[in-house]
Amino acid sequence: MTSGARARKLAPGATIGILGGGQLGRMIALAAADFGLRTIVYEPEISGPAAQVTNQHMAGAYGDEARLAAFAARVDVVTYEFENVPAEAVAFLDRLKPVRPGGRLLAVAQDRFIEKSFFAERGIGTAPFRRVDRLGDLEAAAAEIGPRAILKTRRFGYDGKGQVRIDAGGDLAAAWHAIGEAPAILEGFVPFEREVSVVAARSADGSFAAFELAENEHRNHILDRTVVPASVKPATAAAAVEIARLTAEALEVVGVFAVEMFVRDAGKGETLLVNEIAPRVHNTGHWTIEGAQTSQFAQHVRAICGWPLGPTQRLSPCVEMRNLIGAGVEEWQHLIAEPGAYLHLYGKDVAAQGRKMGHVTRRLPAAPR
Ligand code: AMP
Repeated sequence: MTSGARARKLAPGATIGILGGGQLGRMIALAAADFGLRTIVYEPEISGPAAQVTNQHMAGAYGDEARLAAFAARVDVVTYEFENVPAEAVAFLDRLKPVRPGGRLLAVAQDRFIEKSFFAERGIGTAPFRRVDRLGDLEAAAAEIGPRAILKTRRFGYDGKGQVRIDAGGDLAAAWHAIGEAPAILEGFVPFEREVSVVAARSADGSFAAFELAENEHRNHILDRTVVPASVKPATAAAAVEIARLTAEALEVVGVFAVEMFVRDAGKGETLLVNEIAPRVHNTGHWTIEGAQTSQFAQHVRAICGWPLGPTQRLSPCVEMRNLIGAGVEEWQHLIAEPGAYLHLYGKDVAAQGRKMGHVTRRLPAAPR
């Protein structure tokens, strides 16, 4: 595609192609429908959440170029809702239609070594890390990083999968075996006070808009709760947004993405350490659906269609989002009766353990802590 064609502003009635059919795809499709746009979801088999609300569904492998070409022919722009979308599929599609937020962001976000190096090269703090390609590298890295560390596969890790804690005197060979002897990084354990994230958008003309810094609590490595505003100093929140802006510009992002960070020494110096990038709309941005002037999904649609970004202000003194995970979805029966609880259920049949089934957002008059 020529750059002129790529910068083209889409009109209502245009079609967004979405790679992946989970809840993020579902919420992108719903936001697109609000603007009179059409969506086609492409995934290997119907998984439910997005297929239930899209105009069209195409089943196809991510490696099936003939099928991908047929998909590209039917859409005006392509986006993706999961970060492990194969880079080859994105490169193939990108020759046919613009793929957003973009291949450079995806390439950095898909590999923890490239990702951490991206920030380290720009003087942005991360946990100390070393590249590990073999057991010998792990032994050397463990000696340098110290007694508390986490071994993480470079690729295909999410929600704590593909990683193992190593404590003083831990069995390095067992840890190396536990991650399948795959290319990895060893990271120093960060004794953080808080986890925060910036969800932000950049448009093709270079404009940038961030949602307010969100504070996140995980349980069993899965996001449990997000609260906005985060309890950090204004300067820390501003610094976090600057990291997101720099990321968006350096990687020429077009669309919504997130940067997850740790806060150390809360209340004292407050240092930010970047943990990872999510190259897509993000669970820690779900609060924006009812809690901000523009939802992250509407913002993503605006950005990828070449439309102006929407305002991002928070709508109440505090906003809280909780995930409904596994059997926790049964709470819907109470939530549906609670005034002011905004309930979202993703249409998944089986409430397997650890599975994100829905979420609930509340606009609160004050911070709940
Ligand atoms: P990740 O897969 O990198 O997002 O890690 C999942 C969760 O593990 C994070 O949200 C943190 O709670 C925790 N974690 C990851 N890396 C570190 C680290 N270097 N130090 C301490 N906790 C970590």
